[in-house]
Amino acid sequence: MIQNLRGQPHVNNLVHTATGVYRIARDSVKLDPWGTTDIADYSRLFKEFGIEPIDELVNRLPEKHRYFRRKIIFGHRDFQRIVEAIEKKEPYAVMSGLKPSNVYHFGNKMTADEIVFLQKLGGEAFVCIADLEAYADNGIPLHESEKIAIDNVADMLALGLDPKRAYIYRQSREQRVMNLAFIFSRGVTKATLEAIYGERPIGLYMSALVQAGDILLPQLEDFDGPKPVVVPVGADQDPHIRLTRDLARKFSKDYGFIPPSATYHKIIRSLTGSKKMSKREPWGMLTTNDTPDEAAAKFMDAFTGGRETAKLQKELGGEPEKCVVYEYYVYHLVEDDDKLREIYSKCISGEMLCGECKAMGVEYLTKFLEDHQRKKRALWDKAIEIVTSSPRR
Ligand code: SF4
Repeated sequence: MIQNLRGQPHVNNLVHTATGVYRIARDSVKLDPWGTTDIADYSRLFKEFGIEPIDELVNRLPEKHRYFRRKIIFGHRDFQRIVEAIEKKEPYAVMSGLKPSNVYHFGNKMTADEIVFLQKLGGEAFVCIADLEAYADNGIPLHESEKIAIDNVADMLALGLDPKRAYIYRQSREQRVMNLAFIFSRGVTKATLEAIYGERPIGLYMSALVQAGDILLPQLEDFDGPKPVVVPVGADQDPHIRLTRDLARKFSKDYGFIPPSATYHKIIRSLTGSKKMSKREPWGMLTTNDTPDEAAAKFMDAFTGGRETAKLQKELGGEPEKCVVYEYYVYHLVEDDDKLREIYSKCISGEMLCGECKAMGVEYLTKFLEDHQRKKRALWDKAIEIVTSSPRR
């Protein structure tokens, strides 16, 4: 059944609850791939959108990235297909897009980390440079987005993406994606797109169909035909996944498409503590291009779970669950689980105060940025070659 942005049957905003009572869905979670999404309780996505908890499948993975170990990736659709392919050493693909509208930030890094991880487990990677979406959503002309794309691709290579086992292409140059989008336009009506995305400019509806083409591209005969494909996304991107899975089923008779799988990660907050990093709030956005000094200044100013005074914090301890600094430790900065437990325990016991804790975070951050930017410089020419060359097949 088609569901709207809130994941509910689109019938007068009425919802069937577990108790059988219908109520108005005004407090439902809103997932908006082009806007700001506020999810206070991720478990609601299981009930309201049909996303499945991922816990049991994680145990079957031969290795567990920290995003899986720490439940940052919390949910999935049909990820068991990928786990089975890994277990049986059968072909599968991991697919994602990067929208070249801005420098890479630590939210973008999460998707890249997941692609790299699933590629290392044996998947072929497909990365779409979504230049058409950058135009439709942000008005960035293609010649501008090309420069941003080179920077973004250099980031992905520096994070470990192996270009030899990846198909990286520009959306505007991949005719097969355009063809699929056109074909898919026969399978949806404007009312359907409105039900999923709300009322949006036609360009965004078109880019949603183009993205469906991107996600299903790896299953064309040119790429060895139907296979399990997983799309790692932030929870706010679920409307695209639902649309594409519907289209895959509608066109499976012609193409043999297997509905794509997806994994869902939590959305890292802005350093200011607001819901999501945004260009409108540059002070809250750590980017991979920040100099260590710029990053340190932002990090030292970040929202924490500290108490009003040092005395109170020593007495009561800090509140890491509310703390953006701790979120950065969990998501990005500390790989060692024991070290993370130590930070948590020193925080809640009041043994460590926020100034000291942030200063330690700056050391991790500086090391990451220096390493990453060195690798990025070394891979810059490769990124230019990838972005400026035509599709390879
Ligand atoms: Fe956050 Fe660290 Fe302060 Fe605890 S001590 S609230 S983890 S900054």
